[in-house]
Amino acid sequence: MRTHRIAAIPADGIGPEVIDAGLEVLDALAGRAGFALDVTRYDWGSARYRRLGTMMPQDGLAQLRSADAIYFGAVGAPDIADHITLWGLRLAIAQGFDQYANVRPTRILPGITSPLSGVTAADLDWLILRENSEGEYAGQGGRSHRGLPEEVATEVAIFTRAGIARIMRYAFAEAARRPRRHLTVVTKSNAQRYGLVLWDEIAAEVADAFPSVTWDKELVDAMTVRMVRRPASLDTVVATNLHADILTDLAAALAGSIGIAPTANIDPERRFPSMFEPIHGAAFDITGKGIANPVGALWTATLMLEHLGEAAAAAALMAAVEQVCAAGITTPDLGGRATTREVTRAVVAAVRGANLPD
Ligand code: ATP
Repeated sequence: MRTHRIAAIPADGIGPEVIDAGLEVLDALAGRAGFALDVTRYDWGSARYRRLGTMMPQDGLAQLRSADAIYFGAVGAPDIADHITLWGLRLAIAQGFDQYANVRPTRILPGITSPLSGVTAADLDWLILRENSEGEYAGQGGRSHRGLPEEVATEVAIFTRAGIARIMRYAFAEAARRPRRHLTVVTKSNAQRYGLVLWDEIAAEVADAFPSVTWDKELVDAMTVRMVRRPASLDTVVATNLHADILTDLAAALAGSIGIAPTANIDPERRFPSMFEPIHGAAFDITGKGIANPVGALWTATLMLEHLGEAAAAAALMAAVEQVCAAGITTPDLGGRATTREVTRAVVAAVRGANLPD
């Protein structure tokens, strides 16, 4: 039997609630779909930081190295600065394993209503690709003269030809695989005239190698308007680390809730394990209340299964999630009354009834 090694890092806030839901559903699915999951759970995160002063052990990346995939919850704690929790764990893994392609599909699932009036599933079906290794989150910068009136801080965005070219190639290739074969390249090259002009130039170079893909460019501010006013004009989208971070939160909200949106942090060359996580954060306001929406973590699990070569299981899980949403079994963020447990149990039942090849 095929066995996939999964490193589970539930971490903070609602992370453990939604990752537990995901692991329960994956367990039910694995039995039916003819593979096994060998799950190792890591208690890294803010609680560890309070105890030991670091979010993960020094040899954390070495511990994860042999996993086939990382299933990640969320980081953040009300009493610890966000940049410590984020850089100490999630970004340390994403950068350490050079997971340069951040993949974020957005669709309106059955039974879910978009806050955009009249917009249906046929109008909003996007794949947003975020550069995940450099740009505005490269980690370059510093602070001098701390606390003095002349204090200075720099936050340097880094754009490299290699970094832009590889995410552009990934984006055009993904666009070529989708039925509409259209890519929108998001920039801010009117104001940011070095890094993002390079971004534009490389987009045009890479486009030549993908004649089947039509493409256009959009400035990031105009892009927010286009997402709201003309969602059907978009298909595949590629943007920098910061721009796509913001645009994908908007995308998730337009598709119904941030609680349903998935992410894959991919190393396309498969030198390192890739990492799969819901888009949402730790959500302290609902932590421990049992009402966290597990759909983001479950949709994320389908991306992980696809990456592991389990396409049939991924499709069955997505169908099960859609069936449960369509039946109106949803958490309060989607206007429903179900708890995390109830949604999870309904998806497990749907998975058990799924028609799967052995
Ligand atoms: P981050 O900076 O890590 O993205 P954040 O604090 O900006 O985190 P979230 O933690 O994602 O944002 O929470 C934003 C809002 O969305 C909160 O009101 C939260 O309760 C809600 N939310 C996020 N995830 C879920 C979920 N899975 N189910 C229900 N509500 C959610």
